[in-house]
Amino acid sequence: MARRRPAGPQRLVVIAVGDELLNGFVVNSNAAWLGRCAADAGAQVVEALTVRDDAATIARAVTEACAIADVVVLSGGLGPTSDDRTREGLAVAAGVPIELNAAAEAVLRDLLDRQGRIATAELLRQVELPQGATPIPNSAGSAPGVRLQIDGTVVIALPGPPRELRAVAEAGLVPELRSRRGSLVTLSLRTALLPESEVAALVGPLEPRHPEVAVAYLAAPAEVVVRLSASGADPDELGAVIDRAAEDVREVLGDAVVGDADRSLAEEVVGLLARVGRTVAVAESLTGGAVAAAFTDVPGASEVLRGGVVAYATASKASVLGVDETLLAEHGPVHAGVAREMAVRVREMFGADYGVATTGVAGPDPQGDVPVGVVHVAVAGPRAVTAVRRQLHGDRDVIRRQVTVAALDLVRRGVLGLPPRTGAIAD
Ligand code: ATP
Ligand code: MG
Repeated sequence: MARRRPAGPQRLVVIAVGDELLNGFVVNSNAAWLGRCAADAGAQVVEALTVRDDAATIARAVTEACAIADVVVLSGGLGPTSDDRTREGLAVAAGVPIELNAAAEAVLRDLLDRQGRIATAELLRQVELPQGATPIPNSAGSAPGVRLQIDGTVVIALPGPPRELRAVAEAGLVPELRSRRGSLVTLSLRTALLPESEVAALVGPLEPRHPEVAVAYLAAPAEVVVRLSASGADPDELGAVIDRAAEDVREVLGDAVVGDADRSLAEEVVGLLARVGRTVAVAESLTGGAVAAAFTDVPGASEVLRGGVVAYATASKASVLGVDETLLAEHGPVHAGVAREMAVRVREMFGADYGVATTGVAGPDPQGDVPVGVVHVAVAGPRAVTAVRRQLHGDRDVIRRQVTVAALDLVRRGVLGLPPRTGAIAD
């Protein structure tokens, strides 16, 4: 069973508001402080931008930020003067009016009283908040911070002067980030050699059965990660919800699931070989060492990888690996029989339990009459030799990466006694 882990950190977008930041009169030290503050609270700033003192611009920035963030933090523009537009921008983004907030007004009047100042209409602007917003106390100044929710995203506006920003962040932002820790549980499964559309077609029908679970698909060449997530208050309950959904996903995807997405396919294969006490050797043509490199990327690969040969030129396939010259002369190097022989020979050369081989045309030009994207991968094991031909699509880099995945997966299947996958591997 794949490991369950709380999702990565809460995602923050920081929006600094102020013409003086854009024209260079003030250095945006608040964004730097907020970045560190977020990290200390277990969260992460994923984007920071600076906008003008203009309500429509602020509103647009907030709306866009809400689409990608768990928490949006604004800095500046909460003061009493006419160039302080953040409250107005928030109201526009939330689609609500501005109204005098009674609780904030009482606090402000009390402060002004103690300072012997008069509560002018201009000063009271600071407590005119978007409807539904909550004021956050400001122990270092007169303008309260503002907290409101827009479509499920928490938006927190902090005053611009750095001392005030820090005071209000400590009062309202840090507790918010701490309380949201661990409230999201995710589980990601890695699949190999299934097109994204096919993964989605298999998993999609399960979604009504697990309404609390959000599903996302993350595609890389020949690999699709299915990410399941659920948010709420009780991590244990969420974990059970996610586990039930994952069980169903594993069932419909079958042996296309290679494991937990936290681990690479090569890590899975190395782990598998180590568990059964088997070794592997690699003979590569178009992948040029990428399969061997994928293995050696994994700590502990020395336990299972005997070695590899890059036999790129056709002549080297004969002279180095001992592939039959007549076979090469008759069919050329891109041929199932050649792939099989490469796998068999490299297995013998290194005294490994499994030999795996790649040959094919990565492009951009065809090789003689063999079109770009035609590849053969083969695995030779203790009992059998299996070769698979594929027609791949994409540029040179994508094709080489797909073949690398196909080769690693063929070893996995050989060890597990599973049949090779033969269908399309990309949309
Ligand atoms: P005030 O009540 O002082 O007007 P405010 O919340 O409206 O506060 P701004 O008017 O945007 O904040 O900025 C006030 C001052 O705070 C700026 O002149 C600047 O000195 C400082 N400041 C604002 N934003 C930043 C920032 N991002 N980084 C550093 N200092 C800032
Ligand atoms: Mg101001």
